[in-house]
Amino acid sequence: MGACVGCGGSQSPGVFVLEAGTYARCDGCGLASLDPLPAEGAAGALFEEGYFHGGVAGGYSDYDADGALHEANARARWALVERHSGAPPASVLDVGCAVGTFLVEAQRRGAQVAGVDVSPWARAQAEQRHGIGVAASVEEVAARESGEFDVVTFFQSLEHVPRPDRLLAGACACLRPGGLVVIETWDAGSTVARVMGKAWQQMNPPTVLHLMGRPSLAALLGRAGFELVTVERTSKLVSVGLVLHILADKFPALLGWLGVLARRPWLARLTLRYRLGDLVTAVARKPLAVVGT
Ligand SMILES: [Zn+2]
Repeated sequence: MGACVGCGGSQSPGVFVLEAGTYARCDGCGLASLDPLPAEGAAGALFEEGYFHGGVAGGYSDYDADGALHEANARARWALVERHSGAPPASVLDVGCAVGTFLVEAQRRGAQVAGVDVSPWARAQAEQRHGIGVAASVEEVAARESGEFDVVTFFQSLEHVPRPDRLLAGACACLRPGGLVVIETWDAGSTVARVMGKAWQQMNPPTVLHLMGRPSLAALLGRAGFELVTVERTSKLVSVGLVLHILADKFPALLGWLGVLARRPWLARLTLRYRLGDLVTAVARKPLAVVGT
């Protein structure tokens, strides 16, 4: 147990104890973090091909079968980014870009794009499928394109990294003054998260390292040098197959029934709009440079 990576405050240990790991929670901002956190740079191994194709609890059931859904979600995410930017951004960096679905949408809208992902499999796929070169770290991008980007996005990626504080500082370095950071993540302070407790789908060691809430998002963003614009509830399309995959992991007693259902392709491919109130998007701005007097 160490200091909270959100606000620097002290943590209470053993707040959520699960079979695969234990979360400590900050007494100040409420951020719950896996205790102990893995070393930085260790995460890539968790997000190999199996994470995208049903091999990992908390991962995807079949990333490619749900490709059309990912594309629809990318269009909605682009619309949100454009709404907060006030104009279509000219350049976008997506951190945790997976195979590059959002970057393809951004390119289609005329933006220059760059991506970061810790997964060697995802980086190779982004290159092969879309010809997009993806960096392994934000530092790599910052070293070559510091202060360049209009927008940096994190779509359900910030909760998977050991040090989101350092990653946000890196994102800030990549942005131009006045640029936006957009973070889609899960709200541990939401009603559904509180009611579900340890059965909440984000209670998922070792891939989910942090359970954030509005106060911890505000603390993280403030310490990285951002001005918070808004935190708003959001929704996304999911397949029934993914929902069954998550339920089977959380409620093993139902595994037999869920397995029977999940083997029916017509059912697994059905689409739902997920809007239980626990998915949020935070938008924050890098301050404009202060001109000395
Ligand atoms: Zn804290």
